[in-house]
Amino acid sequence: HYGFLSDNTSSVHAGVPIKREWEGNQDSTASDMINSPSESNDSNFEEEQEEPKPCQNFFSLDKVLRTRQLVFDFDGERPIPRLREPLDLFTIPSTSCPFQGVRWPIECEVIRDKIQHIEWDPSEPEPFYQPTGDEQAPMPVGGVRGNTVYRIDPATKTSYFTYSRVGGSRGPIKSATSCANHQEEPTLAFESRFESGNLRKAVQVGQYDYELTLRTDLYTTKHTQWFYFRVRNMRVDVTYRFTIINLMKASSLYSAGMRPLLYSEHAAWLKGEGWQRTGANIRYYRNNTEQEGKVLYSLTWTLEFPFDGDTCYLAHCYPYTYSNLQHYLREVISDPVRAAYCKLRVLCRSLAGNAVYVLTVTAPSNSLAERKAKRAVVVTARVHPGETNGSWMMQGFLEFLLSDLPDARLLREIFIFKVIPMLNPDGVVVGNYRCSLTGRDLNRNYRSLLRDSFPCIWYTRNMVRRLLAEREVVVYCDFHGHSRKNNVFMYGCSDRKDASQCLQERVFPLMMSKNATDKFSFRSCKFKIHKSKEGTGRIVMWRLGIRNSYTMESTFGGSTLGDMKGTHFSTRDLKSMGYCFCDTLLDFCDPDPAKTNHCLEELGLLLRQEVRRKLGREVDSLEDLSDIDIESSTSGSNSTESDGLPVHLLNATNQGKKKQLRSRKERNRLRQERVQSTGPKIIQRNIKHLVELTKYAFL
Ligand SMILES: [Zn+2]
Repeated sequence: HYGFLSDNTSSVHAGVPIKREWEGNQDSTASDMINSPSESNDSNFEEEQEEPKPCQNFFSLDKVLRTRQLVFDFDGERPIPRLREPLDLFTIPSTSCPFQGVRWPIECEVIRDKIQHIEWDPSEPEPFYQPTGDEQAPMPVGGVRGNTVYRIDPATKTSYFTYSRVGGSRGPIKSATSCANHQEEPTLAFESRFESGNLRKAVQVGQYDYELTLRTDLYTTKHTQWFYFRVRNMRVDVTYRFTIINLMKASSLYSAGMRPLLYSEHAAWLKGEGWQRTGANIRYYRNNTEQEGKVLYSLTWTLEFPFDGDTCYLAHCYPYTYSNLQHYLREVISDPVRAAYCKLRVLCRSLAGNAVYVLTVTAPSNSLAERKAKRAVVVTARVHPGETNGSWMMQGFLEFLLSDLPDARLLREIFIFKVIPMLNPDGVVVGNYRCSLTGRDLNRNYRSLLRDSFPCIWYTRNMVRRLLAEREVVVYCDFHGHSRKNNVFMYGCSDRKDASQCLQERVFPLMMSKNATDKFSFRSCKFKIHKSKEGTGRIVMWRLGIRNSYTMESTFGGSTLGDMKGTHFSTRDLKSMGYCFCDTLLDFCDPDPAKTNHCLEELGLLLRQEVRRKLGREVDSLEDLSDIDIESSTSGSNSTESDGLPVHLLNATNQGKKKQLRSRKERNRLRQERVQSTGPKIIQRNIKHLVELTKYAFL
């Protein structure tokens, strides 16, 4: 860490215990630095010079030329003309902050209330729920026998995206609440027609018992997982039960102690408290219903609200909306200090016309040579809209990087950062879990040529391609959330044809685990290029030439490591992973190779142990090698089911749904057959590969 990170007095680091357990090499000193931050002066905060000063003894070209579009670099005294970059086209003037309103598909109703939550962290880590074994598993009752108290028009009223509008549909908001309530007890009042909200229906099935149906991702019939809704009209001192009845994943962290989140406006106002873990009698189980031949699962929990007549919110993870991002970016660019080294631009517009922002963060360079020598780092998040934990890591990353800490300054001096904090704003706005308004998973379409359908990732890939043409990109990392494993971990890519590089690509994640021992699990990291993941950002960027290309996955639950074992992650914990990412960049690029060598040695050792373990007993099934060889079922998300053409194009080309379904089934069957028939061969090849690797590990 160049010895700087002991500075815990700064606001960014305050209260964020980042463990350092480097063995040896504690004395790497500031003398290793490329440019000591202590020598930096106010010139760091000047506007980055677009052009170097032309040679003094050359006549002034500016005065001769009648265009300002040509600019000159100088090779000695020889002028080299090039076109001025058209950067200002999309620049957002930092003075007036014209962030436009949030655009919604035209059929979406949006309430006018401004939803805001305070940021807060519990003083003590919140423990996982400990099941008693007595948790009930209520089966769906449905609207016929129950009393439907909330229902929004099915959002898939139109089957594909057509138009968008700021604020959603025109006209008055229809009441979504049933008035057919003649009971003495007041019923709860539900609402989710706000940014990132997701609840389609609430049915009262007992006095304090509610059955909830989530809205699937827009223009799909899948991907229920994220939930976020408002509840009012509650009574204190009674126990309510909520059961979400249309979840689709077979397993869930709710079976491993994860608890839902509750936000009370009264608690925020009276005590300054924010989102807290809530719920008892938590159970995740298969229920007796199906949708399109797929079995459905329920999540049930009970809870007591803290106040009578409060306004409360329940959510799957700490919400982070598009408006939250806009608010933060507005704050950054209106601060002259940060605006000097952080440029905000609109990379492109999403399908609904929402801006996809890109930040360029770097210290102004003193010379062209200095600027050219800078390597780049690309960081992105929220391609999957329901993975709000990714945004909190991104928030931490940006807060650190834009801070005045010596390490942040050093990072800005060494690197040019390209940061896209929200790749899928439309999905975030409408409360999707996985898809964009194409009804498709963007993170399976990084190879797509359909610029107009997938602008957010098309322009991202294009930007990275241009960046690579001018400089080395040291690290690419896309932040995600993971719904089935605890802790934070990374997925990388390794080249089977080039075993000598293989360990190299594991160094960054191993360093992460050393910098966050109680949150980051190196054991959970995988370095595979799976066929079904070929369209992901990670693999496409790797193929473009970024060797250290990763996704960083944070659990929705919490930690199973060290001091944090058995507790949930708070927003502070998630943000600390962003700081940790910055720390690790410095370790990774330390001019003193000691840390890297130390990691390579350790990786070699780990690999040798692994091979011994694998070969030491009979290997007769795929599962035997799942850890390092065959990507296990929990290693990623099974969203291949959202592959294919954008829904609106499918519609235009008359490719009916049925055909799509059949081919998908067919595909799954074929894949299954392939796996079965090639199983032993894969194992053999993998062992051979491992042995190959260990050779390098000894080098
Ligand atoms: Zn994801």
